Amino acid sequence: MTHNGSDFPAGATHVVAIDGPAGTGKSSVSKLLASKVGASYLDTGAMYRAVTLAVLDSGVALDDPAGIARIATDVDIELVPDGDGSKVFLGGRDVSGPIRTEHVTSAVSAVSAVPDVRTKLVALQRQNAQGRFVVVEGRDIGTVVFPAADVKIFLTATPEARAERRHKQNLAGGRDSDFDAVLASVNRRDHLDSTRAVSPLRAADDAIVVDTSDKTLAEVLDELSALVQARIGASER
Ligand code: C5P
Repeated sequence: MTHNGSDFPAGATHVVAIDGPAGTGKSSVSKLLASKVGASYLDTGAMYRAVTLAVLDSGVALDDPAGIARIATDVDIELVPDGDGSKVFLGGRDVSGPIRTEHVTSAVSAVSAVPDVRTKLVALQRQNAQGRFVVVEGRDIGTVVFPAADVKIFLTATPEARAERRHKQNLAGGRDSDFDAVLASVNRRDHLDSTRAVSPLRAADDAIVVDTSDKTLAEVLDELSALVQARIGASER
């Protein structure tokens, strides 16, 4: 049984929360899952990346939380569906490419740890999901943004498996890549994301934890879509 937004009574919000660290295959599977179950897809990491790009462009230092908070308050971010994923606009400019550069990736944890940044983006995420059936991907979706989500999934994988995925993605995308450097970067970002004071990366107590280390994308997709059909499908009957 599949759903699309129009299957639901007006105003009903249905959320599938998918959290986990970088390199678990979270983005790939979230996009495919949304498309498979007929939901919209919301990439919250892209929002934190867009604010980070605005901060870097503005010249505000990464150790200036007040300056970062000011940029976040002023910034205009829009996510527009595009195929299975979405395009990201910052002040009307398409920044879908620039937000994925190493420059932004290495700065995003500092920006996402600023409480005012999170307050602004969490409000935007809730607004975006209002009245829709949506797969929301991030770090704090099941714990903070949508604690009453219909389904909560936490993806994990060993650091080596996650670094290997990132390394292969880099090579496939024609980018230089060194496995040890990728592994160090994955470990550093996880450490910063899971030890920050506000909304750290962690599995919600009622999340279903899925280890993707030895699974193909197709296997994870099948597992997750079965969970969604069982939870949301059952509640609709
Ligand atoms: O998922 P992605 O790698 O694009 O996320 C980039 C960064 O954005 C994460 O490393 C984290 O610092 C931040 N983030 C967050 N909360 C979310 C989503 C992403 O803090 N819900």
